[in-house]
Amino acid sequence: MRITRATAAATAVALSLVLAACGQNGEGGGKQEKKGGKGSTVGIAMPTKSSERWIADGRNMAAEFEKLGYKTDLQYGEDDVDQQVSQIENMITKGVDVLVVAAIDGRALGDVLHQAGEQGVRVISYDRLILGTEDVAYYASFDNEKVGELQAGYIVEKLGLKDGSAEGPFNVELFAGSPDDNNTRYFFSGAWKVLKPYIDGKQIVVRSKQTRLDQITTLRWDGGAAQRRMDDLLTSAYSSADVDAVLSPYDGISIGVISALKSDGYGTAAKPYPVVTGQDAEVASVKSIIAGQQTQTVYKDTRALAKQAVQMADAVLNGKKPEVNDTTTYDNEKKVVPAFLLDPVSVDRSNYRATLVDSGYIKESDLT
Ligand code: BGC
Repeated sequence: MRITRATAAATAVALSLVLAACGQNGEGGGKQEKKGGKGSTVGIAMPTKSSERWIADGRNMAAEFEKLGYKTDLQYGEDDVDQQVSQIENMITKGVDVLVVAAIDGRALGDVLHQAGEQGVRVISYDRLILGTEDVAYYASFDNEKVGELQAGYIVEKLGLKDGSAEGPFNVELFAGSPDDNNTRYFFSGAWKVLKPYIDGKQIVVRSKQTRLDQITTLRWDGGAAQRRMDDLLTSAYSSADVDAVLSPYDGISIGVISALKSDGYGTAAKPYPVVTGQDAEVASVKSIIAGQQTQTVYKDTRALAKQAVQMADAVLNGKKPEVNDTTTYDNEKKVVPAFLLDPVSVDRSNYRATLVDSGYIKESDLT
């Protein structure tokens, strides 16, 4: 065929239409996007069953997806990064149509998610942002900085620093989450923003001097590791002083911290427990709050989060745009991932019933 100017132009138009269609579908040069529809399978990769919240997240999502007519493949990585990678690999091999992933290590999934991308399997990052990969379509989480602000704000308020009814100085120790979980730095930066002016003003003193994130993290959020670190802090920095508050980012860590405090003689009228924060409103911690040990936790309604993730996956599978409310905060180093962020709520003895029991999140009978 002789190529005329007109046929060349027509070919170029046709080609650009094809390319545009590929771009729309796969958002990445030529990748095929799976289009689900009912009967599609959703792969759900959760980090661990060692904490109630993830059990509930998995269960809630599976139920919501099944209500909409999807099949689900729900796996728990038991805090073992390689295990999570191979679970996701298997899901892709078995032909899941979309993935919802709460990463154990936010940086360890690049290769396996690349495979997902190549097969047109879109990925929703659940609760924890997956880092360093283009192959994440959306992010469903809570306002993670606000979690830290609520924890630190509670400490400042309870010590009487906020309303000026006390001047201090107060002794506060800091704990952070797992260094490989992206949420950890958001929780801590929210908390640090609140505490720093008081530390600068010497109204809060960190006797251990451990205030940098790399000094205070807790690998895999392990309560036993937190207990050992608290034991060490009590021995090295508190032989002649008491702890007034502990910033704890997660209920499992709070339980470890409280065990160390208890072994050191805290929990009596003469030596009361310090203010101890937490996160997740786990039953054991809510009981501890009622018993006057742990002081506060941050409630994140995982039922609502599951609904958001399901909404995102359902939209993606049906060629629609999911609802998002944040398109600027969560940069995973390859792209800013469009997110839907829910609101966390501070809970203590005064409002646990209204927030947790009345909303049906925890049964009153589980707390006795
Ligand atoms: C979650 C927290 C949880 C922690 C430990 C974080 O990524 O956002 O809700 O307490 O992991 O499981």
